[in-house]
Amino acid sequence: MSVMPTYARYPLTLVSGKGSRVCDDAGREYLDFISGIAVNTLGHANPQLAEAICRQAGSMLHCSNLFHIPQQQQLAARLTALAGLGRAFFCNSGAEANEGAIKIARKYFYDKGSKRRTVITATQSFHGRLISTLTATGQDKVKIGFDPLPPGFVHVPLNDIATLKSTVNEHTAAIMLEPLQGEGGVNIANAGYLQAVRALCDEHGILLMLDEIQTGIGRCGTMFAFEQAGIRPDILTLAKGLGGGVPIGAMLASESVAASFGPGTHGSTFGGNPLSCTAALTVLDVIEQQDMLDNCRQRGAQLKQGLAALQAEFPIIREVRGAGLLVGAALDEACGITAADIITACREGGLLILPAGPHVLRLLPPLNVTAADIDEALAKLAAALKGVSA
Ligand SMILES: *Cc1c(COP(=O)(O)O)cnc(C)c1O
Repeated sequence: MSVMPTYARYPLTLVSGKGSRVCDDAGREYLDFISGIAVNTLGHANPQLAEAICRQAGSMLHCSNLFHIPQQQQLAARLTALAGLGRAFFCNSGAEANEGAIKIARKYFYDKGSKRRTVITATQSFHGRLISTLTATGQDKVKIGFDPLPPGFVHVPLNDIATLKSTVNEHTAAIMLEPLQGEGGVNIANAGYLQAVRALCDEHGILLMLDEIQTGIGRCGTMFAFEQAGIRPDILTLAKGLGGGVPIGAMLASESVAASFGPGTHGSTFGGNPLSCTAALTVLDVIEQQDMLDNCRQRGAQLKQGLAALQAEFPIIREVRGAGLLVGAALDEACGITAADIITACREGGLLILPAGPHVLRLLPPLNVTAADIDEALAKLAAALKGVSA
């Protein structure tokens, strides 16, 4: 193998797909409840997305940010209107979007002549694999071996407003949170907590940054998860589901914060090129035209209900949680069966799901998954649970 061994890969090669289903190189079909880790928003081989990408490729793939890019301007207008924010910057991944968020927060306070530079994040958070974003991440496993890590990051437990209040000081620039922690265990930031964090930020003039790289673009049943808490961040990061499989990241900020990213302060060669912006515009169009937020909420409720029924049958499932189609099933840690055991059994039965830590199953079907596909996945999961429990 000539590829670096950074991934513990499943023994499977996926070669094609359609909707919520994928095929391996032996022609075997699987229900895909991973969706490229919340990337394939519209499922596989969506005809509108494929057509839009082909059309754009036939006209212009890339032209550099030395020039005006109409698709980028359109996408910025769409996303900022949806999020109620001022301006957007485009990059190519989630970690890069968070890097931009950290940079703009520091620059904002630098421009004001303030000494605020520190970013507070939550334990169990995941913000990416760059030196800056792995330092922001509240999990030691991503940091080991990569020191020296940059200063300016502090972690606090999620949903603990008292600890957060006592951690905020005159150096705090921003509080960065996932409204629902994906990688870290499908842990929900309570609406009351998010509202209290928003109020704390307002009180001290601190920026609220929400990392919606996994939760955004409809994944949680609303375009952005923050809508469900009735708050709005000052800075918002997006990536995974935004391009439906074409790499694109975005960092949105309020008008006053965005003013700190003047010419020469930040950039990206590929960021926001005509191809990736066309893909993202098409994803937003199709979500809207096919009422996929509604489907996401309904199928999410169906999936959670089905998992709750499985929990009654298999006490190894301790808790079912999540929002929309970002759903987790936390396992009884004392039972001796890990998420990996169940995931293997599911795969052998034709269902692809992923873990969120060693003891949580994570299910992320495409937003246009059908009711029949949800039922079939639940039946396959039940069979896998029966197998590992026996
Ligand atoms: C996946 C993810 C990232 C990192 O995104 P990459 O595109 O892999 O760099 C950051 N934050 C959250 C919440 C994520 O789920």
